[in-house]
Amino acid sequence: MIDLHVHSNASDGTDDPADVVRLAAAAGVTTLALTDHDTTAGWDAAARAVPAGLRLVRGAEFSTTAPDGRGGEVSAHLLGYLFDPADPAILADQERLRGERGRRIGVMTERLRADGYDVDPAAIADRTGAPVGRPHLGRALVEIGAVSSVSEAFESFLAKDGPYYEPKADTPIAEAIAMIRAAGGVTVWAHPWARRKGAVVEESVIEAMAGLGLAGLEVDHPDHAPEDRERLRALAGDLHLLTTGSSDYHGGNKETPIAAETTAPGQLDALVAQATGADVVTGGP
Ligand code: AMP
Ligand code: FE
Ligand code: FE
Ligand code: ZN
Repeated sequence: MIDLHVHSNASDGTDDPADVVRLAAAAGVTTLALTDHDTTAGWDAAARAVPAGLRLVRGAEFSTTAPDGRGGEVSAHLLGYLFDPADPAILADQERLRGERGRRIGVMTERLRADGYDVDPAAIADRTGAPVGRPHLGRALVEIGAVSSVSEAFESFLAKDGPYYEPKADTPIAEAIAMIRAAGGVTVWAHPWARRKGAVVEESVIEAMAGLGLAGLEVDHPDHAPEDRERLRALAGDLHLLTTGSSDYHGGNKETPIAAETTAPGQLDALVAQATGADVVTGGP
């Protein structure tokens, strides 16, 4: 079982990186990719926890913006795997994105406080020490009793079309693809048609990114409808892109368990064969 997209509390998951690795092994996962948002802070702890029989692919999920193919822009998540974590361009981009995350959660928190919701910005940052995301603010809203779950917070206070939302300035996806490739990494477009999260791109945009070096599409994802998976798989075939499947596990911040969706072994091999920036970590003697 291969799961190529999970989060730890190095970003907006709730489990320590080492616990995510142990949990995956216990669930029967044979290859796991740790892909926290805009950071590689969990890489070392995850690598140290790898047991015999598990392979760890280290990566990150980059916050990017893509043309939607209709004249506008949409938020897009780009998975980068096995890139050099010390690459200066990557380090600068991740630092900038973490700064943007902090700024925008500060703005959203101020708007909530102005309306009487007593969420404490310092507590959100202090408790996580990680790139802050809306799930962190969602937990703070659960703690003050404003909502009963993080998912509920996403339907109301954290919604993109709601009064509290503040966008962050993400990196243009073409730049991110080039940057990750230059650092020896392999790029896969995460949940490209997760329509529940907002507007998504036209096929023409995926085709254009394939031309710029995008290596794959995350086809099997909990937020993808069956007909969209079918279409994405066909598109990947046409464009010679690899296809992955992943849980996008976030611990207690989402309901999906680890390995809820998986990647075919041949696709993993094709991905690893393209990478030159970091090694796959194997456990045991
Ligand atoms: P942000 O990156 O701060 O804009 O927040 C987006 C993150 O929130 C995504 O990466 C998901 O981890 C998480 N998320 C999105 N929708 C939901 C939801 N309905 N319930 C829980 N977490 C969600
Ligand atoms: Fe997330
Ligand atoms: Fe994502
Ligand atoms: Zn994710």
